[in-house]
Amino acid sequence: MKAGRVLVVGAGFAGAVCARELADGGCNVTVLEQRDHIGGNAHDRLDDHGVRIHPYGPHIFHTNAQRVVDWLSRFTEWRPYEHRVLASIEGKLLPIPVNRTTINRLYGLSLDESGVEQFLNSVREARDPIRTSEDVVLAGVGRDLCDKFFRNYTRKQWGLDLSQLSAAVAARIPVRTNDDDRYFTDRFQAMPQPGYTPMFERMLDHPRIKVRTRAAYRPGEGDFAHVVYTGPIDAFFDHCFGKLPYRSLRFEHEHLGSEQFQTVGTVNYPNDFDFTRITEFKHLTGQAHAATSIVREYPQDQGDPYYPIPRPENESLYQRYKELAQQRHDVTFVGRLAQYRYYNMDQVVAASLTAAGRLLGRSDE
Ligand code: FAD
Ligand code: UDP
Repeated sequence: MKAGRVLVVGAGFAGAVCARELADGGCNVTVLEQRDHIGGNAHDRLDDHGVRIHPYGPHIFHTNAQRVVDWLSRFTEWRPYEHRVLASIEGKLLPIPVNRTTINRLYGLSLDESGVEQFLNSVREARDPIRTSEDVVLAGVGRDLCDKFFRNYTRKQWGLDLSQLSAAVAARIPVRTNDDDRYFTDRFQAMPQPGYTPMFERMLDHPRIKVRTRAAYRPGEGDFAHVVYTGPIDAFFDHCFGKLPYRSLRFEHEHLGSEQFQTVGTVNYPNDFDFTRITEFKHLTGQAHAATSIVREYPQDQGDPYYPIPRPENESLYQRYKELAQQRHDVTFVGRLAQYRYYNMDQVVAASLTAAGRLLGRSDE
């Protein structure tokens, strides 16, 4: 592989990390990106009013993987940021993940931590085995909290009932008996300063990397020793077993004259409206600006593939594509779309470092 000519398809986290690792390892790398910008869904930019926004929805970086932090820190400074989310329920704004404050405020109680534990034990439903997201939520918080916080949000987000989704989806959201109202508890929580796109620019700034945007790859194109493919795996194989389902979103961005729109980064609307949540970017970025910009996310079936849909039949279909992929020793499939995994950014970075390490023949990968 050393010094070979490599084609990387996609300039998101998967593509950019592989491109940089392979270039550092001596390969000449061409990156093709069909959009007119780098960064994939983590791309950010200034809007027409000078507010830094995430055009493809809010991206908050968090990880427990020191290797990922160390690697990315070569290309960015960081600004510490701990994300907080409130859910709008029956006219109240309550912390999600469900914690002590949520339960006390929702039910007009004043329980201490052990009181909350007892309360949860009294409402939890025994589910064995835990297979679906419904099992996770009913076993975690019982039916009333499930119906108020999870059932309708999930229906909106995925177009499916909780019972139709794998356990891993709802398992992303913990349940707490204390007052910790952070969305994530990872050891490292910070945003790239000044933004994701500048971090990607530095990652791809290398004498052995050429980036072409507005350049869609068609399988079989070009003369390369190896291809790293980060697009949808079913598209690579011309959907030969049928289309893998992805969930899409429509983003409605709005700029507002006031300095602040809401008190936290994101407010979720499980039971009202057609959108799932509103995010105000200045909370995430820490930018000082006299006005503010927000985004509403409207889930939909059609459109760019944003979310693989974790459920057993989709996993089975993916496995059939994966078998084809494993026969292609000239192509590496990595990333959220190519591995059909509900990966966070740090998981994509970790998977990409491993994939690039293997290509470079590092024995520990
Ligand atoms: P992408 O970012 O999708 O990049 C793939 C790139 O390949 C795209 O730019 C695409 O245009 C290009 N491409 C595809 N096919 C072709 C082709 N044939 N030719 C040329 N180019 C092609 N993760 C977090 O850790 N924290 C968050 O807060 C968070 N929030 C999210 C919010 C939303 C709304 C979404 C959708 C995702 C969120 N994520 C978050 C997940 C995060 O976006 C992904 O983990 C990460 O961006 C995936 O990187 P990737 O390179 O695998 O895929
Ligand atoms: N979820 C929910 N209500 C909420 C927040 C999350 O029902 O207020 C469920 C929903 O199914 C969602 C999943 O938990 O898709 C994962 O939420 P997360 O915030 O991690 O989703 P993402 O940021 O990836 O869209």
